[in-house]
Amino acid sequence: MSKNNKQFVEKITAMEDDFAQWYTDVVKQAELVDYGAVRGTMIIKPYGFAIWENIRDQLDRRFKETGHSNVSFPLFIPESMLQKEKDHIEGFAPEVAWVTKGGEEELEERICVRPTSEVLFGEYYAKNIHSYRDLPKLFNQWSNVVRWEKTTRPFLRSLEFLWQEGHTAHATQEEAEEETAQMLDIYAEICEDYLAIPVLRGKKTEKEKFAGAEYTLTVESLMHDGKALQSGTSHYFGTGFAEAFDIRYLNKDGEQQPVHQTSWGMSTRIMGALIMVHGDNRGLVIPPRIAPTQAMIVPVAQHKEGVLDKAYDLRDRLQHLVRVDIDSSDKKPGWKFNEYEMKGIPVRIEMGPKDIENEQVVLVRRDTGDKEFVPLSELEERLPALLEEVQQNIYNQALTHLNETTTTAKNMDEFKQALDEKPGFIQAMWCGDHTCEEKIKDETSATSRCIPFEQQHVSDSCVYCGREAKELVYWARAY
Ligand SMILES: [Zn+2]
Repeated sequence: MSKNNKQFVEKITAMEDDFAQWYTDVVKQAELVDYGAVRGTMIIKPYGFAIWENIRDQLDRRFKETGHSNVSFPLFIPESMLQKEKDHIEGFAPEVAWVTKGGEEELEERICVRPTSEVLFGEYYAKNIHSYRDLPKLFNQWSNVVRWEKTTRPFLRSLEFLWQEGHTAHATQEEAEEETAQMLDIYAEICEDYLAIPVLRGKKTEKEKFAGAEYTLTVESLMHDGKALQSGTSHYFGTGFAEAFDIRYLNKDGEQQPVHQTSWGMSTRIMGALIMVHGDNRGLVIPPRIAPTQAMIVPVAQHKEGVLDKAYDLRDRLQHLVRVDIDSSDKKPGWKFNEYEMKGIPVRIEMGPKDIENEQVVLVRRDTGDKEFVPLSELEERLPALLEEVQQNIYNQALTHLNETTTTAKNMDEFKQALDEKPGFIQAMWCGDHTCEEKIKDETSATSRCIPFEQQHVSDSCVYCGREAKELVYWARAY
């Protein structure tokens, strides 16, 4: 390795040495974010935002295909409105940022900077839903929200983040529950098919569910260090908000009925998952289907006559087929190789005078580092196929990691041993008592991640108390 290359890689701490530092290094070196002026805020830079936009576009397309409309609700919520649903406000109170002054004048009522918008939608629906003809209401908004977190990390936990929040109102429980499940499926599909992140699907326990919801469905993913990350949630509210906000409609029989509601969200936290599931000691690994640039052309010996022209011809040829870019700056090829590996660009295309002579290019894949020589005449066929192979391979790697680090524990000794020796998901039976769940958290800092839809019976008794077990739960330490 040349001196320059070595220095470059040394900018990233090895993940085996210090995973948290590795994460911070990658986020900065790959130019995803910078820190904002207020502690815990972030500037999402062009490359980071381009990745988020691709995730957003995929989600948005599916929301629209399933009949949802985008709207934009205000950033501010009066305190009295937030107080209307008791569980909800209790859940959010510790993280709410308050506006107390407008200019120099004290406000008569404090205004909350939205941590989420259930109450605003509740108030709106109360005014705008009158009869069964007004239902369903299928709204989504792309917005920023503020949660005053004590400890922060880019993407994973920040004072302000970007997300989408869907808010729907339905005539029946059945319809609302179908919606809740449908939106979770969309999140799972985006995670698995686009972000190449395998997920566990399930229901949150009462303790971990969203404040004010009847129940919360979740997709959970596993990071490289064995910690879990909640990657998307979908909540069924029942008629709780409808009762609190008086959202009623006249049914076909002329009776007043409360609506059934849902809400669901995916945020820029998923960027954290993308980094921590696929990244390695050379930086990011971005799945081709979500990568802003799928292939980067790096001309070699570009000062030689004809090389740059050929490289641009190649770009023009490929750009209808894949998202391709070219770096024709006067930086050295070795620098460029490192730079685009760091940024996780799935495939690098090298082209120098020899390749031009032989009518070929060199394709180098980011995930394995494997090189192949491809005749120019076969490139249109080979490059998209290679991108698919990379997509599949990184998904399979993540799935293997998830499976290999999932342990079954029948008692707390096994539970603790698994956390120490092979961090990942732990499958263990639970009696359903929240005190067992709390004690597990106190003793191990692992939390219940979900009650999986696909239940297994791995033992008869609760992993903590030994009483009769009710269901299987996935546990893990989590972000
Ligand atoms: Zn128990």
